[in-house]
Amino acid sequence: MSATAATSTADNIIPCYGRFPLRFVRGEGAYAYTEDDTPYLDFASGIAVNALGHSDKGLRDALHSQIDKIWHCSNLYHIPQQEELATMLAEKSFADRVFFSNSGLEANEAMIKCARRYHYARGDKNRQVIITLSGAFHGRSLATLAATGNPTYLEGMGPTPQGFKQVARDDVAIVAAAIDDTTAAILVEPVQGEGGLYPLVNNDYLQKLRALADEYGILLLFDEVQCGVARTGKLWAHQHAGITPDGMSLAKGLGGGFPVGAFLATEELGTALSAGTHGNTFGGNYLAMVAAKYVISTVSTPDFLANVVKQGQDLSARLQQLCQRFPDMISDIRGMGLMLGIRLADNYSNKDLVASLHQQQMLSVPAGDNVVRLLPPLNISTDVLDVAEQKISEALGALQ
Ligand SMILES: *Cc1c(COP(=O)(O)O)cnc(C)c1O
Repeated sequence: MSATAATSTADNIIPCYGRFPLRFVRGEGAYAYTEDDTPYLDFASGIAVNALGHSDKGLRDALHSQIDKIWHCSNLYHIPQQEELATMLAEKSFADRVFFSNSGLEANEAMIKCARRYHYARGDKNRQVIITLSGAFHGRSLATLAATGNPTYLEGMGPTPQGFKQVARDDVAIVAAAIDDTTAAILVEPVQGEGGLYPLVNNDYLQKLRALADEYGILLLFDEVQCGVARTGKLWAHQHAGITPDGMSLAKGLGGGFPVGAFLATEELGTALSAGTHGNTFGGNYLAMVAAKYVISTVSTPDFLANVVKQGQDLSARLQQLCQRFPDMISDIRGMGLMLGIRLADNYSNKDLVASLHQQQMLSVPAGDNVVRLLPPLNISTDVLDVAEQKISEALGALQ
């Protein structure tokens, strides 16, 4: 250690995160417990990751069943668990082909590379530009930051990868006007997460994008890293719009807390990444595959999805009531399913509400546009919502 290094244990962590002063050591269901065993109602779910809450018995059993057999042996070889999960995902989606990664940005990076390569392989070498929307978030690699289009995240990080064009999300006509003979694809989150729970899937927006993509021979790509895997009450968020994309990225909820991401594609698109064109050492790890297989088989049943819809409507109705009780504080309730947001009026700060919720021993996540995100486990029950409503009401009251 250098002479200037500080001495608290946290001082050995690179300080790139603004962390809240909380330290969790275990979790059970909808609760996470601090070092002194204080329970916090967890409506952050590790940012929509812990889809089944903490320490889910079935998920633990799935991992236990694999842990004594084999963990890793590289994509130099066939991995049966990858093939099983890929088949499961293909059966339950528009897709025929799957590439596995460990994270959301890696799934998006694979999708972006594949989209460009698809046009290249068809002799359309100019088609390299990906159109993205304002309010988007696609990850923190250089390329996915270029796709995200938020200049503050790229400040001081050197040259920005080219081939992305961001346009306002408000109107499909604006997207249409941005398409030219360099366009490879349109990349969209059906429900924007970090951007403030802005649902693009609600009206006919995605249908119109599908029609545009077909008209111009370009690809429609959905980033469902946050809104996919049953979070909105359907297995994939785009199912609310009744159309399918050419490619889709998944991650957050997919492993229920185990790191895993996936890029799903149609046969035509997915086969554009031929042998040697892309790779990932850890992608498709055996433990990640059994975790994701368990999560997908659990959250895709009609009963499970019906509960997400029911609890989502219940939570949304309770938030609407709070909106009426605190009209000066709450300007809007956003989102769908169990991906809901409280948008605060301009003279209140979402960070203050998150902190006030901490005082009530409840976790939530700030998002863009002054929104507080509520992302509970997808298997919650009504009694958990009773507790949540009480805590949110107290937290709002304390800020008044
Ligand atoms: C979180 C997120 C990502 C990035 O995922 P990482 O696993 O952090 O790389 C990409 N897209 C969306 C929509 C996300 O919410």
